[in-house]
Amino acid sequence: MHRPCLLVVFGTRPEAIKMAPVIEALRNYPQIDTRVLVTGQHRGLLEQALRTFGIVAHVDLALMGAGATLDAQLAAMLVAIGAALERKRPARVVVHGDTLTTLATTLAAHLRGVPVAHVEAGLRSGDLSAPWPEEGSRRVAGVLADLHFAPSAAAVAALRAENVPAAAIHLTGNTVADALRIIQARIAAAPALADAIEPVLARFTGRRIVTGTVHRRENHGAALERIAEAIARLAMREDIGIVVPLHPNPVIAEPLSARLGACARVALVPALDYPAFVRLMAASTLILTDSGGVQEEAPALGVPVLVLRDVTERPEGVAAGAARLVGTDPARIVAAAAGLLDDPAALEAAAVVRHCYGDGHAARRIAALLAAALAT
Ligand code: UDP
Repeated sequence: MHRPCLLVVFGTRPEAIKMAPVIEALRNYPQIDTRVLVTGQHRGLLEQALRTFGIVAHVDLALMGAGATLDAQLAAMLVAIGAALERKRPARVVVHGDTLTTLATTLAAHLRGVPVAHVEAGLRSGDLSAPWPEEGSRRVAGVLADLHFAPSAAAVAALRAENVPAAAIHLTGNTVADALRIIQARIAAAPALADAIEPVLARFTGRRIVTGTVHRRENHGAALERIAEAIARLAMREDIGIVVPLHPNPVIAEPLSARLGACARVALVPALDYPAFVRLMAASTLILTDSGGVQEEAPALGVPVLVLRDVTERPEGVAAGAARLVGTDPARIVAAAAGLLDDPAALEAAAVVRHCYGDGHAARRIAALLAAALAT
């Protein structure tokens, strides 16, 4: 029997976490030859996530550092992915979200006439400069993909507003909820899986935990300095301990370490594997982040989030009262944090478990839709 090849392509930690449930769900379709290609856009973080979910890539292009600039990286990826498509001859590729890997794969597949399915399709901030360059990359995928797996009703509406045919759009929910559900079940069955965070939590026994993550490109430089300043001011409070898992990119890690390294109530830790990070989020009273994935996960864990950005393509958390957009001004961040930490009623209202990004079964729907597309 001829088994059509489905090539799943990604290159970063968040993509690996959100695509892992889809790859798992595709195991129920032996009639499909599912192959995983990683570009290695983020080396260490990607490997951490692949290990967590037991995913072994069939092809690893090892392209991290392939170019000093985004255009050079994109060019290297485009050529390498094109060559992989030539070798593997997939019937379809599947991409996720809005990374440089997504953009390169979508373009390479389009140029070789290979249809593209897009997971987490239709997120839009409406601002090409934030997140940059991601907003542009996902719009390109919106034009060139022929199957769009939208995480939310707003994403469906955004795609329809861009004239994507209704029949090509499927409302599936976000696979982040699946990933979280899978990992929470694994932690419940084997608590030691998340124990790497325990020494850090133990350091702040008796204090409330605040978690912070920063990585967005538009927050590099002056905005990062302002965020570090906000964390330093918050750390003057006696009642909290702030845990900051550092993105390994030195453009982020170095300024944060320089400003916060000497703060007694700040723990700067290397990027955590997903189970340890999930336990940290769950143990937190408040999360400060510019991450897309963390904005989606925190409401499902009932932890309020302050979003360190001026716009978000994930309005559902804000609308539900789980998240607040606070930008990068230190005074505004500190005031918003104090507004929750010092007001038990406000904190209680924000700290409610809300499944605003998916029911945890998006991957099963996506796998079924992919199987149906390959069968026609
Ligand atoms: N994450 C993790 N370890 C960490 C920090 C984050 O596993 O130390 C996870 C987090 O739970 C989420 C994903 O990484 O699923 C988010 O990645 P990132 O913030 O790098 O990217 P974004 O979601 O903004 O694209």
